[in-house]
Amino acid sequence: MEELIELEECPCCRGNGMLVHEGGWNVQVECADCGSHTVFVEYENETEKLEAEHKVAMLWNIGKVIKSNIGE
Ligand SMILES: [Zn+2]
Repeated sequence: MEELIELEECPCCRGNGMLVHEGGWNVQVECADCGSHTVFVEYENETEKLEAEHKVAMLWNIGKVIKSNIGE
């Protein structure tokens, strides 16, 4: 059973943040609305994966995000 990770609203637009895994070896939090995102955190196993998820969630929740300049 997976531990629930709470994500605050996007610090830029108050959209919904979501955990995005890429390639099965790194994770970031990305805003579904404006595309702002945290840095990627890499992991190599299930334990590190959980730690990585918590780390990016923490970065997101304190507002450490990279604002996307790509308009859509
Ligand atoms: Zn946003």
